[in-house]
This record gives sequence, structure tokens and C-alpha cells, in this order.
Amino acid sequence: MKKLILLAAISLMVSCKKNSTAKIDNIQQKQSQFSIVIHGGAGTILKKNMSPEQETLYKTKLEEAIRVGYGILKNGGSSLDAVQKTITILEDSPLFNAGKGAVFTNAETNEHDASIMDGETLKAGASAGTTIVKNPIHLARAVMEYSPHVMLSGKGAETFAQEQGLEIVDPSYFYTEKSYNALQRVKNSQKTAFYNEEIKGSKFGTVGCVALDKQGNLAAGTSTGGMTNKRWGRIGDAPIIGAGTYANNKTCAVSSTGWGEFFIRGVVAYDISALMDYKGLSLKEAAQEVIQKKIPELGGDGGIIAVDKYGNMVMEFNTSGMFRATMNDKGDLFIGMYKD
Ligand code: ASP
Repeated sequence: MKKLILLAAISLMVSCKKNSTAKIDNIQQKQSQFSIVIHGGAGTILKKNMSPEQETLYKTKLEEAIRVGYGILKNGGSSLDAVQKTITILEDSPLFNAGKGAVFTNAETNEHDASIMDGETLKAGASAGTTIVKNPIHLARAVMEYSPHVMLSGKGAETFAQEQGLEIVDPSYFYTEKSYNALQRVKNSQKTAFYNEEIKGSKFGTVGCVALDKQGNLAAGTSTGGMTNKRWGRIGDAPIIGAGTYANNKTCAVSSTGWGEFFIRGVVAYDISALMDYKGLSLKEAAQEVIQKKIPELGGDGGIIAVDKYGNMVMEFNTSGMFRATMNDKGDLFIGMYKD
């Protein structure tokens, strides 16, 4: 009898082990032939502050954008093209803090930062502090493809954009009442404190996209107007390869959004890739480690979207919300804004 119980217990242990191994193997196998994830910024995004009309506006635009990238991937296009075209849709919308809807600086200007990275070649391009380039993500891509550099800034970046024939606009194109009013609110609240809740709630709306294509190539891109009331030529994490954007076919593609200073110090996007590469963590585990532990421990907040080489998609954030959407090869669409 004792022998029988022992045998039963051993076979139970073996089958449990088999199941858990199967679970891990499953994650390490192709989940989706191609996948795409987008974000429209993380921050104080609460249902109680959002009207049904606003919700619909955001959802519609997120869906429009991700479907553009999905279409490219479905037709066998590259993840780089999917990322660039998808971000363009979000940059052209006044809803997000990128391109048209960029936030205002202390000097009442709009200064854009953007970057893109190719996981196959580890080539990357970025631009910072531009004021007249309509789509900063096009500039980032042009820096990657047609310059010998990785990052261009300010006037020089604008000259390069002009030479490349990119669309140039008058700075007034970037005016939106919403962003201008946000600046006035932050300026007023800063009369009482250098950093307070108004300022904390004022930084979201950055956009980003990560994708895996049918060829197995990963790409990531990010675009932003930065933080309301920024000054002194402040540059955030969005154009910094390894902080705001990173892609490597060996591991994953990541785009960040949040309090940029902390994402730079935490080298967030690269750290997630490195945890997978050096420690063998899954994408989900790596993202949780960085976004739920390391960044809050430093005092920062925000989130990331990411996809790994198997098509696993992750959206991790430690704020009350993050505008986000995913699509897999079956065409399943998910759109989210709030924590749950
Ligand atoms: N990370 C951006 C920055 O610090 C802001 C954001 O994501 O909302 O410039």
C-alpha cells in the first residue's frame, strides 16, 4: 500500500514538472507570426476624468493607427515600416503629445524628440529638440538610413530634414488649445512648488510602437513633445536609444513612456533586453522587474510596450493608466486605457 502511495506521489510530481515545463516552452515558441503593440502615453488616466466622447476619440485613433501597422505586417512588410507609419498616424493627431499635439515648453514653443531602431541590424536613428519637422519619426528614420550618425539635434537636425525633403511646417502648426492651457496651468501651479501633482499629471501622451514582422525582425519607435513646461533644451528618454527605444532580434523591441529622467537613468529599454539576454528572463518578467521595481525604487513612473521574437506582447506600467493597443497575426485587437 505504502509503495503504491509513493508511486502515485512520484508520478504526480513528474506530471506537474512536465506541465510547468510545457508552459515555459509554450512561451518560448512562436505565439504569433507577427505582432504589433502601440502606446499613446502613460500617466494619470482615470475613467472618472474621461467623458464617453473622449474615450471614443482615443479608442478610434488607437485602432486606426494600429490597423495601419497591422496591414503592413500582414502583407509581409517590414516591422520598421509598420512602426514608422503607425507612429505617423499618432503624430498627426492632436490627441497625443507627439507631432501635432506636442506639449509646450516654458518658452511657449514645441520641441520634438523621436527615435527608431531596427532589431535586425541594430541600426538606430534619433532626433531631439526640433521645432519645424511635421513628423519627427520620419526624421529619426532618415537619420538612421541616410546619415552616418545616430542622433541629430536642434537646428542641425532641421537642416538635415530639409535636405532629405521631409515635410516642414510653420511652428504654429503645433499649437493646440489643450497643450497651451496645460502649460498655463503648470506655470501657475509652479508658483507654489517646483514639482507638484499638477506637474506630475501633466506628462503623458507620448506615442510609441513595437512590432515583429513575418521575417522575424523586430523594430521599435517612440515620438514625443516631452514634458509640459520643459526648458533649457531639456531632452527626455524618447530619443535616447536604450532608454526610450530599443530593438534587438535576439531579445525584444521596447518603447517607453513616462518620467523621462528616470527612464534615462534606468536605461529602461535596454535593461529589459539585457535581463532577457543575460539572465534568461521572459519578456514579461523582465518588464515587471524594471517597471514595477527598479523605476519606482528610483522615484519615477511610467510604462513600456514590448514584443519579443516569439510574438509575445507586453504592456507594463505603474501609473493609473496607459493608452495602448495590441494586434496579433489572427487580427485579434485589444485596446486599453486604464489599469484593468
Ligand atoms: N518620456 C517622455 C519624456 O520624458 C514623456 C512621456 O512619456 O510622457 O520626455
